[in-house]
Amino acid sequence: MTASESWSDWSCEVRVAVDRTSALGEAHALVRHLMDDVAVAVDRFRDDSELSAINSSAGRMIPVSRRTITLLDTALQAAASTGGAVDPTIGAHVKHVGYGTDIAEVRTATQVIRPGQVSQADWTRVKIDHDLSMAGVGAGLELDLGATAKAWTADVAARTIANTLHTAALVEIGGDLSVAGHRDEPWQIDVGERSGTPAQRIALTHGGLATSSTAVRRWRTTDGEAHHIIDPRTGLPSSGPWRTATVWASTAVEANTASTAALVLGDEAVAYLNEAGLAARLVGRFGQVWTTPAWPTEVRAA
Ligand code: AMP
Ligand code: MG
Repeated sequence: MTASESWSDWSCEVRVAVDRTSALGEAHALVRHLMDDVAVAVDRFRDDSELSAINSSAGRMIPVSRRTITLLDTALQAAASTGGAVDPTIGAHVKHVGYGTDIAEVRTATQVIRPGQVSQADWTRVKIDHDLSMAGVGAGLELDLGATAKAWTADVAARTIANTLHTAALVEIGGDLSVAGHRDEPWQIDVGERSGTPAQRIALTHGGLATSSTAVRRWRTTDGEAHHIIDPRTGLPSSGPWRTATVWASTAVEANTASTAALVLGDEAVAYLNEAGLAARLVGRFGQVWTTPAWPTEVRAA
């Protein structure tokens, strides 16, 4: 038997599922607490988060918690492994194209794009002192851990539930999904562009699955429509041929790193995913679907 609970947080859908039904209450509380702790560390929308403190102190290093250091390390690993296609210093670009507050508010009006330069994203200008637990970002840059913090939280929550509550667990936060613990039957996951749309059902026994899409978080601007995946090379919403990327990897962090990179890389995404040997499913601008050889075979269309 599986028990599950869903709710909204961080402006997205959150879901936890466990095999041992009596563990659901504790599993739910664990995910909520971890999400609260991660938000205090790195939520860009919270003025009192440590990430906001780093951004407002750009150009110098400040003391931060070990959790923030871990989340920054994760973001920098994602940047290094994608040659900068995923870059945590795109913060000022995300705001510049209109995504400065909660998405529901962003959608209520046409966002005004003001002319003016925003410093080029450059993840090599993030500095971390592990011994002193201090971190900083280069002057003119702003951090945004949107691409890795949700996935990191899903991975850690699923693993912690499995280890401490002795049950197989699935945690999903806004399209970043992680499973942990042993289960006789695989989890059945519907992979689509957003919840409620036609999907392919796959069987998942371990690891992480992430979907990134330019089709959902969209809004109007004075320069036309925008979405939330930024090409760090241009500072603008990515413009490649793929609108949605789903990747299955050993963790949700790895999966979301690759799914975000695939959208940014555009025409180069197929070569990148094939060379990395990743299991991936891409949906093109006109709805055409392409999968890598490693993508799991379909169980049934849901
Ligand atoms: P996701 O919802 O997992 O697809 O992550 C999207 C979020 O990641 C956006 O809302 C931004 O906060 C952030 N982001 C967008 N583009 C990039 C990029 N190229 N590198 C790193 N983070 C990004
Ligand atoms: Mg994601």
